[in-house]
Amino acid sequence: MAIKKVLQYGDDILRQKSKEVTKVSRKIQILCEDLLDTMYAQNGVGLAAPQIGVSLRVFVIDVSNGSNEKLNPMVFINPKIIKKSGAVNSYEGCLSFPKAYTNVRRYKDVVVKALNQKGKSFVLEAKEGELLARAIQHEFDHLDGILFIDHCRNRFEADSILKENNLPPICVEKLIKEDELENEIQKQQAKKENQNEEKK
Ligand code: ZN
Repeated sequence: MAIKKVLQYGDDILRQKSKEVTKVSRKIQILCEDLLDTMYAQNGVGLAAPQIGVSLRVFVIDVSNGSNEKLNPMVFINPKIIKKSGAVNSYEGCLSFPKAYTNVRRYKDVVVKALNQKGKSFVLEAKEGELLARAIQHEFDHLDGILFIDHCRNRFEADSILKENNLPPICVEKLIKEDELENEIQKQQAKKENQNEEKK
């Protein structure tokens, strides 16, 4: 359909809460196509409607993107994360933050319920903190005006990465307190270090 302009961090639309889709009309299907075309054009793994200036609860993901696998476009309309558990450290970026990557906290496993491009309801289980589970959480957040940097594990590191890439600074009041996730991630990292010590 069409490749759209991706809004950059600093644009107010990225901080707004998106509205539910009331009917999966032809217009919504075109929006999904535009999201996929734009995501592929930018070599992204996911893209949410607010990132192209549309405040509706729609996002797309393709975790095969960039690899040699066959394309696997997935559309999520009015998604709900119905279960989340575990914790992982995730090194993330976002098409609205060109070249800026930082460590964020995510749940390891999620179960999401949504409508597909045909308006049919589906439930998807994304496990083991793999790319799909993390992408779902990242894109879902966009629909609530939440950005990956709000989950950053080190605010000072994230701020300097934003600065290096000429992006606006962290919004301190938007930072999400995630003590439980952070504790779990630190525990896992300590365990890994111990195992490495034992191997030496
Ligand atoms: Zn993003």
